[in-house]
Amino acid sequence: MTVVTAPVGPTRLLDTSGTADVVGLDAHLARWGALPDLRPAALLDVVDQSGLRGHGGAWFPVGIKWRAVARSGRSKPVVVANGAEGEPGSGKDRFLLHHSPHLVLDGASVAARAVGANRVVVHVTPGSVSGIEQALADRTRQGLDTCAFEIVVAPDRFLAGQESAAVATINGKNPGIPTFIGIRTIRDQGVAGRPTLVQNVETLAHVALIARFGPQWFRSVGTDESAGTALVTVTGRWDAPRIVEVPLGSTLGNALGIDAEAARSIQGVLLGGYGGGWVPTSTAMSMPFTEEAARSHGSSIGAGVAILLPSGVCPIAECARVVRYMEGEGAGQCGPCVNGLDLLATSMEHLAYRPRSLHGGLAALPTLCGLVEGRGACRHPDGVARFVRTAIEVFADHANLHLSRGPCQTGQPFLAVPGRSSGGSR
Ligand code: SF4
Repeated sequence: MTVVTAPVGPTRLLDTSGTADVVGLDAHLARWGALPDLRPAALLDVVDQSGLRGHGGAWFPVGIKWRAVARSGRSKPVVVANGAEGEPGSGKDRFLLHHSPHLVLDGASVAARAVGANRVVVHVTPGSVSGIEQALADRTRQGLDTCAFEIVVAPDRFLAGQESAAVATINGKNPGIPTFIGIRTIRDQGVAGRPTLVQNVETLAHVALIARFGPQWFRSVGTDESAGTALVTVTGRWDAPRIVEVPLGSTLGNALGIDAEAARSIQGVLLGGYGGGWVPTSTAMSMPFTEEAARSHGSSIGAGVAILLPSGVCPIAECARVVRYMEGEGAGQCGPCVNGLDLLATSMEHLAYRPRSLHGGLAALPTLCGLVEGRGACRHPDGVARFVRTAIEVFADHANLHLSRGPCQTGQPFLAVPGRSSGGSR
């Protein structure tokens, strides 16, 4: 009989990742054992008690979301395992799908049972398809799952993983574009008009372990509000981006081994990626790594992204390129995306390359942010506004140098912008 032990330290999802490129089904079952045979009501209780929150970026309590879908009662729900990961600074979902696909698929199976779904859609980028196909074939041979699984390929768009955009892709209408329906409506009427639970793949992997080892085990790491660990895609610490597992509530300084001396070569830290916000390096290294701490500093940890901007690059030019990219990723359906984001991107480009053309000086930028915030049908404009606001605060000295002395000589770009040259993570 296989003896299965719960991880005792802060390494959980990555527990077996160091031992093989891909943890196949036999290795997965040898390490974690079979899923326990729990009834739906017990699963809902276990997830509630664990305090698990969604790791796709919203950090919404998972138990509340599951109960809302479970009681919608109009027709059989659908579960979407969402690995679309359109954020350029994030790679942890693709990493997890590649290395430990069965943790994700176990979690999706648990979610389906808990909410009464008979259909699971695995929504992933093209690079993850063959690995998931293989994993599903192995599970079918062993008769592991009672519900039907299918794969839908996500388009390469920043917003592809947004809940209503994922549902649009699966429904075959306007792939990767958010639709004008609220989150509650998707829970009631999403894929094929059925109640739909859209859950990030890392969240589902945590569920797979919570179902096995229980809520108290899960809570033994993390804080009261933010239990457990988070996978974080870190860019700028090593030669190439790396995925690390961070106990929530610990500090990035400890998790990444960055002391005061090493921190001096980092101009600022972007938490949460391009929909997140900049934080001064000293703050980022010393604050608890949680969504609530990041929000208290005007940022967000989003889907677990930390980008350390090195000295020697112009932060204003870097941000201007990102804002233009984000402007292009808007769906062009609402006023803030149609008009506001272009104005914001143009103003950032003025500050970066033609600072004397920036009418109203630095104060113009927060004013423009105020014009787009809270006015879109989705949160995309809010994310861009947060990126700009925090950039102007954290890099205020550098921005003022542009205004007084002119732009920097820009060298090799650092922040990854899809479709353009980059030294970052994509
Ligand atoms: S705010 Fe922008 S991205 Fe969001 S739905 Fe409207 S047009 Fe699309």
